Amino acid sequence: MVASTEPPTIAVIGAGVIGLSAALKIQALLSGASAQARVLLIAREWPTSIPGAPILHSPDYASMWAGAHVRPIPAGDSPQLQREARWLKQTAAEFEELLRTEPSVGITRTPGIEFLDAPPPDYVNQTEASFAEETGLAGYRKYAASELPEGAQLGYEYETYCVNSPLYCGNLLRKFIVQGGKTLHRDLKSEWEAFAAGGSNVKLVVNATGTGFGDWRSFPTRGQTVITNVLSATKTVTRQNKDGTWSFIIPRFFNGGTIIGGTKEPGNWEVEPRPATREVLLAGGKVLAPYATNHSSPLNEKDLRVITDVVGRRPTREGGVRIELEERQLTDANGQLRTGHVLHSYGAGGRGYEISWGVANEVSEVVKDLLPLIVGTKAKL
Ligand SMILES: Cc1cc2nc3c(=O)[nH]c(=O)nc-3n(C[C@H](O)[C@H](O)[C@H](O)COP(=O)(O)OP(=O)(O)OC[C@H]3O[C@@H](n4cnc5c(N)ncnc54)[C@H](O)[C@@H]3O)c2cc1C
Repeated sequence: MVASTEPPTIAVIGAGVIGLSAALKIQALLSGASAQARVLLIAREWPTSIPGAPILHSPDYASMWAGAHVRPIPAGDSPQLQREARWLKQTAAEFEELLRTEPSVGITRTPGIEFLDAPPPDYVNQTEASFAEETGLAGYRKYAASELPEGAQLGYEYETYCVNSPLYCGNLLRKFIVQGGKTLHRDLKSEWEAFAAGGSNVKLVVNATGTGFGDWRSFPTRGQTVITNVLSATKTVTRQNKDGTWSFIIPRFFNGGTIIGGTKEPGNWEVEPRPATREVLLAGGKVLAPYATNHSSPLNEKDLRVITDVVGRRPTREGGVRIELEERQLTDANGQLRTGHVLHSYGAGGRGYEISWGVANEVSEVVKDLLPLIVGTKAKL
């Protein structure tokens, strides 16, 4: 058998927020353990964050289309929501640290406001203390009835974060490369193909492709939104309407305009934006605009310009994110049988940004356990 001259490689498939965050956490783990291994990012689509650049991404590259804000969902007694709440809390802490150390990364701390026309009990029962405990976010305040828009039964505010998603992902990618990470542009047919595509010494593959490969539990949740030129929005506002639809305004700080949205359509594969939906979204946005801007300088309707309609697919998975190690027998370039390991990490649905660092921490914990297998026993664990 010919020994590989390449360093042991961990290949991460996916340059969305989940793959990028996981790749950075794995880099940190390897450097902390003085492990001589490299991280290779393989993806079909990559972030673009250059102002004025044409938008060429497919609706499947969800990370480019996200608002994106942190909007906690009360976990109640749902194990999936409880797991996501733990990840959100870790992400909020990491965002705060990033704001301190890398203020231009693309995150902005901002007030978040929510209105619900028919609030479920888990929302009604939230208190300042329970909210802070579950999310790590400060400043929760329930609104008095006089502060609510017509039709809303519950309203509250808190301190949260908005992310300029293309800028943020571009910055994570830059950091990964500057720290020695390698990249490969490739459209893979299977997660197992990464063992061959990634060179001759791939020890582990992380599958952060959003949807996975042929997982019957994965499905798209279509999101249609509108990017507008409104620059006066400084708060993110969400309304859960009585009929189950959503209205939201998310400022894309760092000159990214403002997102007015948006639909959540599970199982809808339609790619083209619907003009009628755009009008409904803009109408919902106008109701929320006084809350997103300062009441003293409300949205000026005649200045509102649509930059583009957006359709993105949230990579949703029944049961939530799959973090699972899978093992298979492979044949390598020398015709030898070998065992390959894939660590799945996909299915973040509509929450990829707000749970990203929690998911990445969990991925990195699994990789830590596998380090002896990846680099032998020399790493300082
Ligand atoms: C309209 C909209 C609004 C949203 N708002 C929010 C929000 O406010 N807050 C929030 O937290 N989340 C939000 N989301 C959800 C968030 O965008 C997703 O959860 C997140 O982007 C998923 O990231 P990901 O890295 O798992 O997948 P993706 O971003 O889809 O990235 C997948 C990566 O894998 C690569 N890949 C896939 N298949 C292959 C293959 N065969 N070969 C090679 N590479 C492959 C892709 O090219 C890409 O690089 C929103 C999403 C949408 C669409």
